Amino acid sequence: MVITNSSTDKITFFNRNIYIKRDDLLHKDFSGNKARKFYYFLENSFPSIDTIVSFGSNQSNAMYSLSVLAKLKNWNFKYFINHLPSFLKEHPSGNYKYALLNGMELFVDENFKMNKYEQKSNELFIEEGGAIKEASFGIEKLANEIKGWKEKNNIQNLKIFLPSGTGTTALFLQAFLEDEVFTTPCVGDSEYLKYQFSLLEKDESLYPKILNPKKKYHFGKLYNEHFTLWNEIKNSTNIEFDLLYDPIGFDTLREHLERFDGCEILYIHQGGILGNETMKERYLRKKGISKE
Ligand SMILES: *Cc1c(COP(=O)(O)O)cnc(C)c1O
Repeated sequence: MVITNSSTDKITFFNRNIYIKRDDLLHKDFSGNKARKFYYFLENSFPSIDTIVSFGSNQSNAMYSLSVLAKLKNWNFKYFINHLPSFLKEHPSGNYKYALLNGMELFVDENFKMNKYEQKSNELFIEEGGAIKEASFGIEKLANEIKGWKEKNNIQNLKIFLPSGTGTTALFLQAFLEDEVFTTPCVGDSEYLKYQFSLLEKDESLYPKILNPKKKYHFGKLYNEHFTLWNEIKNSTNIEFDLLYDPIGFDTLREHLERFDGCEILYIHQGGILGNETMKERYLRKKGISKE
């Protein structure tokens, strides 16, 4: 499988130009930052491995991308979750549905703890959300694409923005770029994000800059204002962003726009569109209920 450079678009939003790195378009089956993070495993060979083991939420983008990787490598994929809602079990959709179609073996175990898992020698164990040092391999490639684009288009004073979960993408992107990388926590607060950075990098001076969201959001919870903003961006730019991270990303960017005065902004589209299927259903169900 060939992953070529992703393109960069220019949109106008919040009354200013914003460049969008289209990692959502990397490849039809393997895209977004999870493709970058797992690129190392795609590109190298692992003769002793025949199984991927991972853990996380039942709709995670990482789960889906690992199912694609396992299929391409002809490996088994064992995935542990703490909980499977009966609605999802009866009506599979989004990442969950497509990961199962790719052959994922699912284990529901409410007591499963990653640090208790005894890894066997034929197994490749991937931390939740792909927070692994090997992710730097694919993210360096992303950084190099950005450098090439900057040079070709003579872009000056560039600042980069992307929303974080584990913060792995933002951290490694900053490691390979001289331009400042800004991010915002979508899971937990900025202290938690810094803690997650610290698991991969001890030197705080190398961390991306953290901008705080305007209020505390609970990851995965529905916020009508987020759905509205997501729709506005989609209608005005024709680009579909992810519904979990990107509404917080864009809202936080808007809150801190003055930090970007006199600079060009590059927003990294980190994929995740497949997960929108279930998020949209949830929003529409919620709207239906609140109208009654
Ligand atoms: C996983 C994911 C993130 C978070 O990436 P981290 O490297 O964990 O910070 C952000 N956006 C999308 C669409 C994702 O799938």
